[in-house]
Parts: sequence; structure tokens; C-alpha cells
Amino acid sequence: MEHYLDNGIQFVPGVGEARAKLLERELGIRTMRDLLWYFPFRYIDRTRIYRIAEIRDGEATLVQFRGRVTGVNYAGAGRKRRFTAVVSDGSSQAELVWFQGIKWIEKRIEVGREYLVFGRPSFFKGELSLVHPEIETVEKAFSRKAASGMQGVYSTTERLASVLGAKGFYLLVCNLWTVAGDRIEEYLPEALRTRHGLMPLREALYNLHFPQSAELLRQAQYRLKFDELLGVQLGIQSRRTERLAKLGGFLFPRVGGVFRTFYERKLPFPLTGAQKRVVREIRQDTVSGYQMNRLLQGDVGSGKTLVALLSMLLAVDNDFQACLMAPTEILARQHYATFVRMLEGLDVRVAVLTGATRARERRQILAGLADGTIHLLVGTHALIEEKVQFHNLGFVVIDEQHRFGVEQRARLWTKNAQPPHILVMTATPIPRTLAMTLYGDLDVSVIDELPPGRQPVRTVHYTDAARLRLFGFMRQQIALGRQVYVVYPLIRESETMDYKDLTDGFEAIARDFPLPQYVTAVCHGRMKPADKEESMRQFKSGEAHILVATSVIEVGVDVPNATVMVIESAERFGLSQLHQLRGRVGRGGEQSYCILMTGEKLSREARARIRAMCETGDGFRLAELDLKLRGAGDVNGTQQSGMAFDLKIANPTLDVQILTLTREAAMEILRLDPTLGEPENRGLRELARRYCGRERIDFSMIS
Ligand code: ADP
Ligand code: MG
Repeated sequence: MEHYLDNGIQFVPGVGEARAKLLERELGIRTMRDLLWYFPFRYIDRTRIYRIAEIRDGEATLVQFRGRVTGVNYAGAGRKRRFTAVVSDGSSQAELVWFQGIKWIEKRIEVGREYLVFGRPSFFKGELSLVHPEIETVEKAFSRKAASGMQGVYSTTERLASVLGAKGFYLLVCNLWTVAGDRIEEYLPEALRTRHGLMPLREALYNLHFPQSAELLRQAQYRLKFDELLGVQLGIQSRRTERLAKLGGFLFPRVGGVFRTFYERKLPFPLTGAQKRVVREIRQDTVSGYQMNRLLQGDVGSGKTLVALLSMLLAVDNDFQACLMAPTEILARQHYATFVRMLEGLDVRVAVLTGATRARERRQILAGLADGTIHLLVGTHALIEEKVQFHNLGFVVIDEQHRFGVEQRARLWTKNAQPPHILVMTATPIPRTLAMTLYGDLDVSVIDELPPGRQPVRTVHYTDAARLRLFGFMRQQIALGRQVYVVYPLIRESETMDYKDLTDGFEAIARDFPLPQYVTAVCHGRMKPADKEESMRQFKSGEAHILVATSVIEVGVDVPNATVMVIESAERFGLSQLHQLRGRVGRGGEQSYCILMTGEKLSREARARIRAMCETGDGFRLAELDLKLRGAGDVNGTQQSGMAFDLKIANPTLDVQILTLTREAAMEILRLDPTLGEPENRGLRELARRYCGRERIDFSMIS
């Protein structure tokens, strides 16, 4: 049964076939519903009319003022041709500039007439100018009925804007409302709506596109955020019930020779209380008969790897294979080396598989996996490839899971006929409900205790002026037998520049450490895997005293003898990245240091990040602060790639309160009607399907 809103947008007046195609291609908007749910990303106040003299550089991103055109002018020639008009309102004057559509605009501008001008202010030598502003005669502008004066701004693409014009998207939504406004049907049960004080759907959609007041807009946003998060929660919770009912879990009842021998003879140190607790939780899961889907959160350096290894050994003891996927080549090889070292003398065969593995070795590994002679596999994305087939995969670990996309993680579920147990590990701590929304249906374990004897890393902020002091300090530490990291930012957009930063930095260090006893190794993303590995080997073995690297070493690298982490251009890193990098030191018993190098000038946010780093070493506190600092504008850069649900308006990291409410509401609803089969819950079932449906991906398999 098709609903009216499922009609294609070509039927909206002013759209037609060509524009419909364009909208679909550029923004993925295909149906009327898609367009109705395409919300403004912000609103501008069209009631405020500035005096020109009031408009200051950097104050508002969009302004509106009225003024009389005092003169027009043509300049340039050919493609550089431009048309300018000067407007004045008595307080001051502004220049309006057009580079395109000159023929059209010149006919509409009359010297001596008064206009309402709207656009983005820019300043050149103190003079205000606006490029391609919207402009209308005041008579016309004020003849329109003013609503609240708030007008939605829709994000579009350059392509689309050039076809639709500046106001085009807004007009499109106006037209849509004329045909579709009356076809919007409420889908929430009345009782639920009343209990939570939610605005009716039609009113909410209307106010999102055409706010009648700031308060109504707020209520409208609340209503639609509630819907999205409720849909997600209903979906996750019913999937979970379904998953547990349907998917049996492999049983690991035996704590056999491998686990025991390792635990009793090979453990290099006693487990922390938190590590023990998590191992226990995992053991309970693996004898429950249900498939485990567990998130392990633990600050950098809290010892997650060991927990992973112990769990994998449980699998081996029960005749299953296990694998661990890490986000980088370096990290995969490091885990491999750790496992081989720790498992020496035990009857466990470990292999490592990455994109750089040579064809012959690869063939051998694939054969060993297929016939079961390889027990543990460590690797990068390479291990989710189709060709990698296991004999009997029972346990999967995903390290630094936020580095992987949803689909990559889900692929591991299908490596055995019955899905293996899944343990995903992260050092980015987030609240449980939030974790569920971001990553799907999972249980959460926390390692909230660092191994004993760790001294907090002393963190200081230096500017370039202190560089000599920095080099002096590095020398001193190296003389004590310690090692030093120097990290440069890596920004994808300008790899060449970073490369330059890094090589310049490398040369500076080579210059300042002229003594032959100091060896410097380099490691960055552009190097061949074998060269990277050689650098890492030199540093790990202690042959190299200094490792100059880009943030490729951000995650997981473990060299306990390194005590100094120098982060160059620290202002260019986010908080969680800085914290991760700092986590590379302070892993042995020695006092460690993190030195944040920046220029003299810093933005307010950068200063706040640096200050927070100097003040606390607590990853949970930093994560909280990070959320606050980043605010609504940026939906969580790193986590978004791993975000399981396509949310348009709710931001689970910010709308925590609504998240909690919807979680409880969903539990209550499903308790009374587990399948959402009751007629009054039909709309809810639809909602759950929309946000948590099976079409794109099976959301119960996100981990
Ligand atoms: P992360 O949780 O960041 O992945 P790792 O697993 O890399 O941390 O562990 C960090 C360091 O702590 C490693 O050098 C590891 O050998 C050491 N470690 C882990 N568990 C313990 C423990 N219980 N006691 C002492 N050191 C430990
Ligand atoms: Mg780790």
C-alpha cells in the first residue's frame, strides 16, 4: 500500500523530471517524504534589519539591511566582468557585486530606488561588500506576510544551488507543503504523544520548515528527535530479543590446557581487578548459549589486548579459531608480535594477514585457516575479504573499533555459518545508551583501572620559543636510556604539506642531534609497508632513540621504554587524538612526559583542548569535555563513520536526555506488545523499520 508521501518529488510543482533527478543525485531526495524530512540546518532571523554602519567584520554570517541605490558600475571584461551597485542607508554604504547573471540583475536595479538586501557580508579594506546578495524592492519585500521572521537555511550542493537559485530550496519546500501538507498522518499513538508532551506530527514538520516562533521550533525539533531516537530504540531492542532467541551462541565450556598454562605460567604480570572482571563477563557470555556482542571500553593503556588474548585462548581450548582485526598495519603486526612472544611454547598457531602480505605467504595462511591448523589470526581489513574463509571461527575481536565502518564490522559476523562471539574494543569511552545507538545492539564492559605502578604522564604546553629547551630535554631523556616520539599532524586534504612538515621536522632534529649515537627513525603513511615496519622495529628494539612520525602511530603502538611524546602543531589535533597519542608513553614504570608544541596564536577551542590535556589524564573526563567543546555543529567527527543509524535531526551525543527517555519508552512499549503487532502500534512498527530496517544492513549485526 503506497502512501501519498511516497510519491516522487517530480510531482511537486516547480520540480519536474530533470530537477527530481538532480535532487536525487545530489542529496538523495527521491520522494515527497524525503523532502519533508530534509530539514534546515539552521535558521536566520529575517525580521532583523541592520543599519549598514552596525555591520561589523566577523559578527554575523548573514545580514539584512535596506538602502537606496546611489550608483551602478561595470568593471572588468570577458569572464572577469562584474557589475556593482552602491547602496546607502544614511548611516553608511555598501557595495553589491555580481559576477554572474549580470544581464538579469542589471534590469532589476534602478538607481534611486530603495531595496531590501540580504546576504553574506565581507570586508575589504574596511569597506562592506556583498557578493551575489538577494535583493528585492522594499515595497515587494514588505507586502509579504511576515511569519516569525525565521527562515530555514537548507544545505545544498553547488550544482543544485546554481539550478535552483539562492532561495530555490526554500520555495521548493513551500510548494511541497501546498500539495503534501494535508497528507501528513500522525503515526505515534495518542497516549504516547500526550504522556511525553509531543507536538502533533503535521505541526512539527510545519514548524521545522516554517517556524512560527522560536518556542514552536524548539517543540518541533524535540518531537522529531524523539521520533528518530524512539525508532532506533524500538529497532535495537526488538532486534536484540530476536537475535538472542534465534542465534545460538557457540559454547566454550572448557577451560583447557592452553588457557590454563598461559594464565598460570606465561602471564607477565597479575591481571588488574578490572581485567579479571571483564574476562569473567566474557566467560559467562560464552557459556550462556547466546551469541555475545560486547563492547569493551577502557582508557588508553588499560590493558585491553591481554583481555582479548585470554578470550581468544578460551575459543582455542574449545576447538574454535579466533581472529583480531586492527585498524592499521603497524598495530596488526605489533599485536601479532606480542601474541607470538607471549604464546611461545604453547600449542597455538598464530598468523598475521594484512594488505602487504605476499601472495605466497597469503596462500599458505588461507589454507591454514581453511583446514584449521591456524588457530589465531591477526590482521587489518584484509581479513574481512571474501577469500578469507575459516574452518570454524568462534571468536572475533575488533580493536579500536571506531576506526572501522559499520559495514566492515558487520562483515565479520558472516565468517561462520553461525555468527561468532564478537568483542569490540575502544579507548573512546561513551555512555552505554549512547554506545548502543551509535554502534547497535551490544553489552558493555569497562576496564576502569590502570595497571599498577603507572605514574600519570606529565603534560606541558610549549610554544616554538621553547624549542631549544625541548631539544635539551629530549637529549637528557635519551641520555637516561629512554626513547622519544615526535609526532606531526596528518591531514588527508594536504598530504604533501604534512609530508613537508614531517621531513622539515626530521631535518631539524637531525641537525640538532648531530651526535652519531642518536638514531632517528621515520614513519609516515606514504612509506612502503616494509619500510614502516623496519622503522618500527628499530624503535621497538631500542636501536632508534627517536621516532619521527605522523599520527599513523596514534592508535595502539606499545613501546614501554618510550617516555617522551612530543606533539608538533598540537592545536591541529582533536582531544581524543591527543589523548590517544599521549597514551603511547607512560607504559613502563618511568615518569613520562607529553609535550604539546604549538604556535603563539591559538583559537579559543584549541586553547581549551590544550589546557584540558595539561590538567587531566582521565580519558572519560576528556571525552565528556570533547563533546561539550565540539557542540552541535559537528556531529562527532570520528564516531559518525561508525554510526549505525541514519539520523537527520537527533544527535545522540547531545540529545542524551531524549535518548534515555526513548529507551525507557521503547522498553515499556515492547513489554506490552513485543512484536508491535497491535493496530495502534502500526505506526511505531513503521518507525522502527525506518530507522532500524533490514534493507540497508542487518542492524542487529553491527557490534
Ligand atoms: P590498551 O588498552 O590501550 O590497548 P594495552 O593492551 O596495549 O593497552 O596495554 C598497555 C600496556 O600495559 C602494555 O605494555 C601491557 O603489556 C601492559 N599491561 C597490560 N595489563 C597489565 C597488567 N595487568 N599489569 C601490568 N601491565 C599490564
Ligand atoms: Mg590497544
